[in-house]
Amino acid sequence: MAADTVSLDTLTAFAKRRGFIFPGSELYGGVPGLYDYGPYGVELARNIRAAWWRAMVQEDERIVGIDSAIVTHPKVWEASGHVAGFSDPLVECKACGARARADHLLEGVGVAADERMSVEELNERFNAHRAEIACPSCGARDFTAVRMVNLLVQTNLGNFSDEWRKEPAYLRGETCQGIYLNFKNVLDTTRVKVPFGIAQIGKAFRNEISPRQFIFRKREFEQMEMQFFVHPDDEMRFFEEWRARRWEFYRTLGFREESLRWHEHENLVFYAKAAWDIEFRFPFGFKELEGIHARGDYDLTQHQKYSGQKLEYFDAATGERYVPHVVETSVGLDRLFFAVLTEFYDEDVMGGETRVVLRVPYALAPVKAAVFPLLKNKPALVAKAREIFNTLKGHLMCEFDDNGNIGKRYRRQDEIGTPYCVTVDFETLEGSEKDTVTVRVRDTGAQRRVPLNRLVAALTEEAPHRG
Ligand code: ATP
Repeated sequence: MAADTVSLDTLTAFAKRRGFIFPGSELYGGVPGLYDYGPYGVELARNIRAAWWRAMVQEDERIVGIDSAIVTHPKVWEASGHVAGFSDPLVECKACGARARADHLLEGVGVAADERMSVEELNERFNAHRAEIACPSCGARDFTAVRMVNLLVQTNLGNFSDEWRKEPAYLRGETCQGIYLNFKNVLDTTRVKVPFGIAQIGKAFRNEISPRQFIFRKREFEQMEMQFFVHPDDEMRFFEEWRARRWEFYRTLGFREESLRWHEHENLVFYAKAAWDIEFRFPFGFKELEGIHARGDYDLTQHQKYSGQKLEYFDAATGERYVPHVVETSVGLDRLFFAVLTEFYDEDVMGGETRVVLRVPYALAPVKAAVFPLLKNKPALVAKAREIFNTLKGHLMCEFDDNGNIGKRYRRQDEIGTPYCVTVDFETLEGSEKDTVTVRVRDTGAQRRVPLNRLVAALTEEAPHRG
């Protein structure tokens, strides 16, 4: 499979060429860590969101969704610990000024380090290995001392004084705080009972020191998070349930077992009981895709303390009152998008020609079917193809294409992962095959005649997406 070998350069170029991902503000030279989704990217992203939402909110009756504001009361980020401790260790190259994360540079020379270590600890390790660490930009081995920089992005929203930096508001650094803020609202307005979950998809912002590796680490990104509120005695049982469920999610989407692996965090924050990541094999190796965390009652307790409001659950059956514990699942939409491109990008040979084919499962495909008239210069074929396209577009995302020869149109659709191509030919118009069309399957190239009155059904079924 090409997914084993596809390089970052190939994927980045492919994503731009086919309108999936554009560098942000490219017209002005680009801005690190910012990207835009193009016409096919936005469709793929919508489908990824829908698959996650379906697995969480639609198929699990214990979970409800919310969509909270990006900007919150500033106290939220004090309570959550982000104002004081949401930082990454920064070093600067004295030769070229490039900034890098000290923990990543240390990992690069085989020394364990992470953002949870104290700045003293990190400096000690960094100093012990300075001689081995080269600047990723210029190769020099001359760095500043390690210092911590806060990742929260400040904003003057609602503040009209020039002194707004003294009391800044923040663009949220993670979506889950909005879930904690609405814990009580959801309890009071719905029929949820512990155990229950609240899910949210939305933008998050982090002043990442060195955003890189395409859309793996962005400064503006999107998270899909779910907080599952449980009785304290049940936390680890539900943690295991969610670990299994989240693994299954990726397998159901069609990710191969060998593209995924577990990573257990050893260096836990003081309140956490367990933290495991699902790692995906990106073009630069296995890296975190999703985190699953047993967070105890830390977040709700902190918000109780800072807001002065009770955030408890009352169990009417047992008469018990308690602050629920939380099992969190958290995945970046953009990282999952990147993983989907990596996992399903393929190159094979069909009809003696090499082609690029995005073997995404049906549910994720940006376009489900493309409709072609066999020949562009035959008005009767074009009119019939248009008529069929006009009927289909009310049922599924489809495209009309009469540009270039049929082979070229197939290639274009294969590249963007369109599962079916529908060709209208002379037989569609008259003869024994009247009112049938050719349906061609992306993965195998197999073709069959389908009557028009069964076309919608034929195009909405999932064909096996691995060739
Ligand atoms: P990392 O260690 O890679 O910085 P993290 O441990 O800080 O990630 P979390 O805060 O647990 O990540 O965020 C949950 C998920 O959000 C991650 O698993 C990842 O998929 C996504 N995510 C986090 N930061 C970014 C980012 N800068 N760009 C894109 N996605 C991100």
